[in-house]
Amino acid sequence: MKLLIATNNPGKMREIQAILGDLPLELVTPAGLGLNLDVEESASTYAENAALKAHGFTAASGLISLADDSGLEVDALGGEPGIRSARYAPQAGASDADRRAYLLERLKGIPHPPHEPGWRAHFHCTVAIATPAGELYFAEGRCDGFIINEERGSNGFGYDPLFYIPEWNATMAELSEETKNRISHRARALRNALPILRQLLGE
Ligand code: IMP
Repeated sequence: MKLLIATNNPGKMREIQAILGDLPLELVTPAGLGLNLDVEESASTYAENAALKAHGFTAASGLISLADDSGLEVDALGGEPGIRSARYAPQAGASDADRRAYLLERLKGIPHPPHEPGWRAHFHCTVAIATPAGELYFAEGRCDGFIINEERGSNGFGYDPLFYIPEWNATMAELSEETKNRISHRARALRNALPILRQLLGE
C-alpha cells in the first residue's frame, strides 16, 4: 500500500518518515510524485486543517494521504500561537527565527511562576488520514513543556530551540532526532494513528 505524506515541510517530512518507517507501507512524498500542491489552511481547528490537507492530496493523487496540523500553545498567551503557529509574526516572509523572536517579544513582561523554568506550553498535533473512497480518520497527540527565554540547540525546526522539557533537561532542539521522534506531539499522534493504518493495510 502506498501512503502519501501530505506535507511540504521538510522537517515534518523527515520526522514522519522516521516514525512510520517500520510499517509495511510505501511512503510517498509530494516531490516524489512531482506533485506541487499547496493547500490553504483556512479552517479554525487543527482537525479541519489536517483534513483539508489530507483530502486535497488524496484528490490530487488518488492515494491514501496522511496530513498533520500542529501548533504551539502557550498558556500565558491564552493558547497562542495555536493553529497560527506557522504564520505567527507580523512581517511578510518571516522565518522560523523571526517567529521565535516574535514569541519572546510577546512574552516580555509577562511573569511566570519563579519556581518554573519558563512559560508553560504544549505542542499539539492532529493527524488526518484520507482515503480515495472519501473516508477520513483522525488521531491526536501532545507534548508538554515550557517556553524559555533563550534559544538552545540546533536540531529540529520551528519553535524547538525555545521549547524546554524538564524530564529531559533539554529543549526539543537539543534532543537527538531519535528521542524527539519518540516523545513529540507528532510521534504520539502518529502512534495513535497506527491502528487506523493497520486497519487500512488489512492487518
Ligand atoms: P502546520 O502544521 O503546517 O500548520 O505548522 C505548524 C507550525 O507549528 C510549524 O510551522 C511550527 O512553527 C510549529 N510546530 C509544529 N510542530 C513543531 C515541532 O515539532 N517543533 C517546532 N515547531 C513546531
